Amino acid sequence: MSELDFSTRLVRFDAAPDDPHRPVATPIYQTALFEQESATAFGAYDYSRSGNPTRTVLERQLAALDGGARGLAFASGLAALSALCRCVRPGEEIVAGDDLYGGTYRLFSRILEPAGVIVRYVDATDAEEVRRAIGPRTRLVHVETPSNPLQRVVDLRAVSSAIDEAARTLGVERAIFCVDATATGPAVQRPLEHGADVVLHSATKYLCGHSDVSAGALVVKDAALGDRLAFVQNAEGAGLGPFDSFLLLRGLKTLSLRVERQQATAARVAAFLAAHPAVRRVHFVGLAGHPGALTHARQASGPGAVVSFETGDAEVSRRLVEGLALFPITVSFGGVGSSASLPCRMSHASIPASVRAARRLPEDLVRLSIGIEAADDLIADLSRGLSAAVGEKVESGVRVRARV
Ligand SMILES: *Cc1c(COP(=O)(O)O)cnc(C)c1O
Repeated sequence: MSELDFSTRLVRFDAAPDDPHRPVATPIYQTALFEQESATAFGAYDYSRSGNPTRTVLERQLAALDGGARGLAFASGLAALSALCRCVRPGEEIVAGDDLYGGTYRLFSRILEPAGVIVRYVDATDAEEVRRAIGPRTRLVHVETPSNPLQRVVDLRAVSSAIDEAARTLGVERAIFCVDATATGPAVQRPLEHGADVVLHSATKYLCGHSDVSAGALVVKDAALGDRLAFVQNAEGAGLGPFDSFLLLRGLKTLSLRVERQQATAARVAAFLAAHPAVRRVHFVGLAGHPGALTHARQASGPGAVVSFETGDAEVSRRLVEGLALFPITVSFGGVGSSASLPCRMSHASIPASVRAARRLPEDLVRLSIGIEAADDLIADLSRGLSAAVGEKVESGVRVRARV
């Protein structure tokens, strides 16, 4: 099957292994228990925390799509990351990129660090900096690319080589290289093909695509690491339930279709914003001149559909997002419906303001998630919204900085 195109494999897979009725959609095995043949004869399943047929189909599909040896589905992206972090014990270290999802930062700083895990933040766009930060007790290197919300691009091959080199120099085992690929998903970028050991997805975003499931996934290159993580999934009990697994399988089938449309519209929106006088700076890896564009093009097939931009004024940004008609204000992204957010007030508010400032996260940043609506409608709404947001500022007597 693996010679088939990605978009074909999204719909052509074994939806119901061993089912004599051959359903084309995976049944929801809404059961917690499976009866044993006898007290000593065990079947493939016994208890749904440990394994459930609906989840198994999903996990195999996740592994196939990212090209891994094993996929594991969890109750959320953070549950998946948390399971991975069990590979790091107190006194051991994580080297992490410094432009991360707010919830990831909270997990590291409020759960792992108080428990004795050491986290070193580095600018992961510089592989040499990653190499220097790795020590003999580093067990995990964790990055996002393109990062959220600033779209900084990490060169995956370069970081993977840096991890190898550090391990060789120090004479220790290679740290696990995890890439959070939530911002694009496997239709656009498959980090295991570029030197990553583990891919993390918040499946709540593009994989599900309909903003109706919370879920997360780990896909690993190496079967032995997969076994370790499956043990954690069962021991801690954060595996995804059967109904949510079904919904995710359903959403996945249209992943390519959705993302192709969303990316094309996002590129148009980014170009519109880049040319708008009330917009100071656009962060979109698909725009010519983006510092990470070339690296991104080597490891991904498209720019994704999240567009961030600065207006130069946090109040203008607030008025803008509150005034848009087609972009509900939501913390998340990746769904078929567009949405807007102010990361510093919302998804990244769990990062202290001083840390946000040190990481150059602008307080006026607006993040748009582009859905499948008509591009012209979205652009008209943004155009109207920007005029109103800037105009109101004039009425309140404050000078508008005009840029032509
Ligand atoms: C949303 C998100 C997460 C966390 O996933 P949940 O499903 O919300 O737990 C992790 N990383 C990134 C980049 C995200 O956007």
